[in-house]
Amino acid sequence: MAILEAKNLTFSYPDGDRCALEDISFAVNPGEFVLLLGPSGSGKSTLLRLFKREIAPHGRREGEILFRGKPLERTDKMLAAKKIGFVFQDPENQIVMDHVLDELVFGLENMGMETDEMRKRVAEMAHFFGIHPLLDKEIHHLSGGQKQLINLASVLLMGPDVLLLDEPTAQLDPVATKDFLHIIKRMNEEFGLTVLLAEHRLDEVFPLADRVLFLERGKLLLDEPPKRALCRM
Ligand code: ADP
Ligand code: ADP
Repeated sequence: MAILEAKNLTFSYPDGDRCALEDISFAVNPGEFVLLLGPSGSGKSTLLRLFKREIAPHGRREGEILFRGKPLERTDKMLAAKKIGFVFQDPENQIVMDHVLDELVFGLENMGMETDEMRKRVAEMAHFFGIHPLLDKEIHHLSGGQKQLINLASVLLMGPDVLLLDEPTAQLDPVATKDFLHIIKRMNEEFGLTVLLAEHRLDEVFPLADRVLFLERGKLLLDEPPKRALCRM
């Protein structure tokens, strides 16, 4: 069964002059790495924000969003928040604490996890990410790339089944971009993390994907494996 699915999804903003999304249907299967491509303004962020249930009340929405076959509105909010992780362009908007370690344990503490288990998980994640040297640092001393890595690590510590990312490397330099994407791909390959990654640049991300969705002016023009998509774009 698909883990995430959009069925005839249409959305318009209250003040929009056209539909931001028009009759979009696609399904993401568990363990897939799906690339959501499209020029600026094509509707990528709108789509991801609908999966986050962020903008639905303000606009007009038709169609359905399903998480594991069940309408997202009828999925428990806490469960959805844990199982569907989000990473946005600017880590500053997502990071809540001043120190790296506090940021990493923040979500786990809120879940009521025991201290020993929390320490173990953070240590494992820090090892996987290679971020041990950052653990005792203040966030504002980190580079943009390091901030985004900490942001990603704290999202992944919650143990999501599916990760949605909206141009997460837009503000990163090429080396930090490569490191960031490498970690996402390893999480996908080694732990079966399902990934839906929105990007407007092709070069870095194209080889990572199992499938490519291409949006233009709110319409889904392509849903193909990357090799075929490349010939048609
Ligand atoms: P992308 O992420 O691909 O750049 P967006 O989802 O941000 O695209 O935008 C899709 C369309 O919706 C664009 O025409 C954009 O101007 C419009 N839009 C996005 N956010 C809003 C908003 N808050 N209010 C009105 N229109 C919006
Ligand atoms: P992105 O391309 O990363 O989606 P945008 O620059 O399109 O980012 O949008 C940045 C912010 O501006 C978003 O919060 C979006 O909702 C808002 N926005 C985008 N287009 C419009 C619009 N036409 N009217 C009002 N708000 C908009």
